Amino acid sequence: MKKKSNFIKVSNKSLKTAAKILKKGGVVAFPTETVYGLGACAFDSKAAAKIFKIKKRPFFDPLIVHICDKSQLSILSLEIPPKVKRLTDLFWPGPLTLILKKKESVPDIVTAGLNTVAVRMPSCQISLKLIKEAGFPIAAPSANLFSRISPVRASHVKNQLKNGPDLILDGGKTLKGLESTIIKFEKGKFYILREGALPSDKIEKKAKIKLIKPKQAKITAPGMLKKHYSPKAEVIIVKGEKEAGDLRAAYIAFKKLPLKNFKYKKVLSSKGCLEEAAANLFDFFHETEKMKIKKIYVEKVPHKGLGKAINDRIIRAAAKEG
Ligand code: AMP
Ligand code: MG
Repeated sequence: MKKKSNFIKVSNKSLKTAAKILKKGGVVAFPTETVYGLGACAFDSKAAAKIFKIKKRPFFDPLIVHICDKSQLSILSLEIPPKVKRLTDLFWPGPLTLILKKKESVPDIVTAGLNTVAVRMPSCQISLKLIKEAGFPIAAPSANLFSRISPVRASHVKNQLKNGPDLILDGGKTLKGLESTIIKFEKGKFYILREGALPSDKIEKKAKIKLIKPKQAKITAPGMLKKHYSPKAEVIIVKGEKEAGDLRAAYIAFKKLPLKNFKYKKVLSSKGCLEEAAANLFDFFHETEKMKIKKIYVEKVPHKGLGKAINDRIIRAAAKEG
């Protein structure tokens, strides 16, 4: 039988209710500044298992653990080397996830049996309040079905997770609209596992570090899978405005609306602002899904700064398999 989720607007009262549910081993969907997360207590294996069931997520795919204070990192990570501390000082709270050696107390289900744990301190006040009220770190991947588009509104969670969480907290549209940037620290070096809402060149410049691209041989983050972050529709990348109109298809342009006719046409940012484009991309994908559109033409954005993460999501959405 399908389980209907309670759906409520964020308030001090609903945050308390949400924290109570988490304390009892339940699952709550909540907004962060990146996308909506599907959260459970990070130290409760049974609760974390429910996340996998709701998302239909394979157990080899580890979860990101969210904290509300930098000091909480020490209950998850075995060591906090000075180089890592510097990154947390510079970029937390914010959309940066760090993969570090885990403490034994972090359940295997959360880390998919790896000896590392992914940790992030979000900047969204709602997430911070919820973690604080719960009193423990919250394990939360994005609140979508496995390999599909991440939700940037509470309604996206409701529409996708039919066998849903105990509660969905509605905090409006997320600010960034793209998942966090994932960096792994190993033997003194930093590796970039996923481009995300915090541009990698900004990290390199501000922290004066080099981010190494790992060889693709081993998938260490499902965000590295060729097909991920995908709408149900076929996604076709177009260069310039070459396509003929198609009254059954959608066209998502970067800056300028196409002249030809489509069932749905939108610009990611008329000003050419990459932040605005990032915040809109998944929202537009969700809108076309709601309209049951089967084909989406999409333009890539300039490949610099945040544009790298946006293009990464567009390419994966358009990938055929794998
Ligand atoms: P999501 O929050 O849904 O974007 O998914 C979390 C992402 O973090 C996934 O792509 C995971 O593979 C990645 N991740 C979490 N923990 C680890 C880890 N220990 N090593 C590598 N990647 C991780
Ligand atoms: Mg995800």
